[in-house]
Amino acid sequence: MKARIVDLADVLKIVDLLRGRGYDVFAPFCGRGRDTFFDTVTDANRQQVQIHLPNPYYPPKRFVFPHIERLMKVRGPNGDMKIEPIYQERQRAVFGVRSCDVAGLWHLDRFYLGRDFRDVYYEKRRKNLFLVNVVCTDPARDIGDDCFCLCADTGPAARDHFDLQLMDLGDGEFMAVAGSPAGEELFSEPIFRKATAAHLERRRAILAGVRRSFRITTSWFPATVRYVSQGTILDKTWEEIGNRCLECGGCTYVCPACTCFTVSDRQVGPEEVERVRIWDSCALSGFTRMAGGFNPRRAVHDRRNRRFFRKLAQYFIQRELDMACVGCGRCAAVCHGDIGMPSVVEMIRRAAPETAQNEPAQH
Ligand code: SF4
Ligand code: SF4
Repeated sequence: MKARIVDLADVLKIVDLLRGRGYDVFAPFCGRGRDTFFDTVTDANRQQVQIHLPNPYYPPKRFVFPHIERLMKVRGPNGDMKIEPIYQERQRAVFGVRSCDVAGLWHLDRFYLGRDFRDVYYEKRRKNLFLVNVVCTDPARDIGDDCFCLCADTGPAARDHFDLQLMDLGDGEFMAVAGSPAGEELFSEPIFRKATAAHLERRRAILAGVRRSFRITTSWFPATVRYVSQGTILDKTWEEIGNRCLECGGCTYVCPACTCFTVSDRQVGPEEVERVRIWDSCALSGFTRMAGGFNPRRAVHDRRNRRFFRKLAQYFIQRELDMACVGCGRCAAVCHGDIGMPSVVEMIRRAAPETAQNEPAQH
């Protein structure tokens, strides 16, 4: 991967270059208080684009997998029916995607495109997406108390699956790394100059310092993956976890690696129906309710254990080549019951000695 240096004063010119190449560019902005969000960059708001800020709760997965997506229109009277698929094929670039979210998008790629069935709606959005990863280097502004990309091995600097990566080296300089031919093509622009050995050394030193600044650095994942995969977690542990769930669905809606959706038809005109897909949540009782009303996962803890099985079981890790948790910490931040991923992993580990496997036989 080629590296270049760009001055702080020129970093936002990358946004301009992408807009000049025909991309709709989205970037992070500050809202009120802790609130931050991705929005379309325009001439009017370009100066307000932020580089160091808390990661938005609403994840950038919506650029490939929107929370509501129109799939097709069906129209026409008296059986003279026309079906028109609706594809989003504009070129889009997202500036300021954190490393955990780059890993989240890769996880979605594996799910929607990595198997026999390829999701055509996802594919069209994904192939037109340019990702500018910004490495979290400012512990005060970039890294929250709930972040644990170190444990999920997704950050602070993404290793791949971006087009361009930017990292603040301090002293008014950023390092740019190309992750794709489209990213490398930008290096022909005069704002980029060659990196020296000293720049690479600064990058290494900054990353070493950033890693030390994370509050959570102990990964309890491996044993939890084993317990979840072997099914050795006692029901009472799942019940303890499930009893803390308010069934709001927040954890799944903010998760950059959750993939579930439901499909619904809605009347949009006298002779027109639209088919949409909408994010769904395994926390909600309707998620597993069948047409006749029977629900095999009626109890909340049955639905909660499903979420962690899906994210941590060996079967899915082998299938998707990674865990469906990238360590963004969003579920920990939004859950009123304090059963985000780090807490659940901890609860499972602390309850581990009680599992049937570990108990001595009486005879
Ligand atoms: S955010 Fe917490 S309370 Fe809400 S559905 Fe998820 S686990 Fe349950
Ligand atoms: S499970 Fe939680 S911490 Fe892991 S990727 Fe999803 S929202 Fe982030």
